[in-house]
Amino acid sequence: MIQLFLPLNFLGFVYREIRRALTDLENMLGLLNKKPQITDALNAKQLNISQGEITFKNVSFSYDAHRPILNNLSFSVKAGSKVAIVGASGAGKSSLARLLYRFYNVNAGEISIDNQAINSVTLNSLRKAIAIVPQDTVLFNTTIRENIAYGRPSASDAEIDRAIAMAHLKDFITTLDKGDRTLVGERGLKVSGGEKQRIAIARAILKKSPILIFDEATSALDSHSEQAILAAMREVASNHTSIVIAHRLSTITDADTIIVLKAGQIIEQGKHDELLTLAGEYARMWELQHKNK
Ligand code: ATP
Repeated sequence: MIQLFLPLNFLGFVYREIRRALTDLENMLGLLNKKPQITDALNAKQLNISQGEITFKNVSFSYDAHRPILNNLSFSVKAGSKVAIVGASGAGKSSLARLLYRFYNVNAGEISIDNQAINSVTLNSLRKAIAIVPQDTVLFNTTIRENIAYGRPSASDAEIDRAIAMAHLKDFITTLDKGDRTLVGERGLKVSGGEKQRIAIARAILKKSPILIFDEATSALDSHSEQAILAAMREVASNHTSIVIAHRLSTITDADTIIVLKAGQIIEQGKHDELLTLAGEYARMWELQHKNK
């Protein structure tokens, strides 16, 4: 009996494997056939940046129909100014940045840059105009230097060196045998969260975009590195329009406007001192973060 069972069992295994492979192939072909959801409009123009003013007008968004994430949001970021977005985890801060970069389309309302709706301009020109320092940076399996140069592959050696210096990466790089030619990524040197963030900042510096988004850019840094990075960010952001998403309120007290998001809605907006005087949600968050210091 067992002599019959083993081959039959094996045949069963082969059958299941073939069926799974066919299903995988079918899924893959389905994916290949699927049109990307975010594409250029038929008559999309190049984004023409004169000032770099960003406007969100009555923007609503959800990842799926049952769960609204942003609800009728309106605000503007004046050219060259720094706006900070704060609020509890899950309030919708990163989603707002993803919409500006058009990873997703809004469900209602409009986002525009210098009076051009972002869904009426080419994705390429839009994404060239915005540099993002994300929460979690992806490093490629190549050298630190090439990882930074990815920000703008046409950058000169001197420009890359300057970005390295401005992102306070020099001290770290000099500790490595092969300096900025050291391999990083999954198959190379494992870099810390803070070092990763500095590489992302160097990339963004190099990209030279008029609009900058820092998404919790200093969250993985110790307070000494944080101060150094904040100084670098201030320098980079000084002639840019910037949006800073932050948990640690001490990093954004100098923002021109602070927007407090709660469950996808703006509940307070103003400068640090104004919001403290208001004695509302921001003041409560500030107190919580500074109670034990
Ligand atoms: P945090 O401070 O924790 O980063 P956040 O304010 O930036 O939070 P978002 O990342 O914008 O919040 O997420 C807002 C809500 O949207 C969360 O409830 C999250 O679970 C949900 N969300 C985020 N990304 C997706 C996605 N790709 N698909 C479905 N839901 C998502």
